[in-house]
Amino acid sequence: MTTPTVTERGRLTALRAAWLFDGTSSALVRDPLVLIDGGAIVAVDSGVPTPEDADVTDLGGATLLPGLVDTHVHLAFDASPDPVGHLASQNDDEARDAMIRAGQTALRGGVTTVRDLGDRDYLSLGLRGRPGMPAIVAAGPPITTPGGHCHYLGGVAEPTAKGVRAAVREHAERGADVIKIMASGGTLTPGTHQHVPQFTLGVLRAAVDEAHRHGLKVTAHAHAVGAIADAVAAGADGMEHVSFWTEDSVDAPPYLIRLIADRGTVVGATVGLVPVPGLKPPPEVIARVPLMIANLRRLYEAGARLVAGTDAGIAPIKPHDVLRYSPAMLHGELGLSPAEALRMVTSAAAETIGLGHRKGRIAPGFDADILAVDGDPVADLAALHRIRAVYAGGTTVPR
Ligand SMILES: [Zn+2]
Repeated sequence: MTTPTVTERGRLTALRAAWLFDGTSSALVRDPLVLIDGGAIVAVDSGVPTPEDADVTDLGGATLLPGLVDTHVHLAFDASPDPVGHLASQNDDEARDAMIRAGQTALRGGVTTVRDLGDRDYLSLGLRGRPGMPAIVAAGPPITTPGGHCHYLGGVAEPTAKGVRAAVREHAERGADVIKIMASGGTLTPGTHQHVPQFTLGVLRAAVDEAHRHGLKVTAHAHAVGAIADAVAAGADGMEHVSFWTEDSVDAPPYLIRLIADRGTVVGATVGLVPVPGLKPPPEVIARVPLMIANLRRLYEAGARLVAGTDAGIAPIKPHDVLRYSPAMLHGELGLSPAEALRMVTSAAAETIGLGHRKGRIAPGFDADILAVDGDPVADLAALHRIRAVYAGGTTVPR
């Protein structure tokens, strides 16, 4: 005779607070109760008593919102004045340790999911699923030209259809979640120019085609007007920066704004910076920022799919927890409503990176990634800086 065994179900965790932003609706839920079983949200209610089989954490006057999702970070860059030099001086073990510290910084700042759009030697792939880190969607080293933008990260491909197809295949075989391709030059790489495309349209098309054959989406780093036009024409799923950079200014042709909106190409707006006394973006950036913001606004009004990313790690004004600063910029400078701005760093961001079914919302079946802040972030986005608690996969993040 066998003795029946009773598997004891673990106790539920119940979070209570004053308000809840669920990641999608503009209206806050009053007196929420979020029930968590292990790593997942199992119920979201309002004004109901706490079930007896749950351990309660009452966060008082706080607002609960989904853990933030940054669509564009670089864990391998340490947000120092010389992130490229620092990375070059590190071996892989040292770089990996620094990436773990970067991830922990993000997590403490409420960023529970990141898309790493450029590491070195595929290091971010090995950090996926690691406890104490945000969830990571990883591109591996960005695909670039010989001597091209971020070539030192190891993603150099011969700039031909054959060359980029081979590079995409290698990324797919290594297990990358997304393909990042450098369609133009960038500020971090001397010798490259933001206003100059790096690949021809035909080569970009081949890269996108190869990625899609492997079930991978492509996002293109695209500053130059020609690079943006080519990325859209090549069928890239998304673009980063989209600054419409020209040699001496910024120029966004109306037809291209229209085309980006019509094609549904995701526009990764690079927003959010931490004010650091004495530190400012370079003058060529400062001069263009008002124009870039106006163009993002035009894209938004044209119906383009705008999403926020920070480029965390690339400079001291871009630490790994900088995403909390993005919604205020989206609201104050682009004119989005606070709720829209919050959606762009939660549900819309999660959807963009392929995790819309698990991340970015507080709803049954979603991962228990939750941020609790003092005050009401819809009324006052600065509340995002008053963090009371962060939960990642149902586990409290040490403060
Ligand atoms: Zn970047």
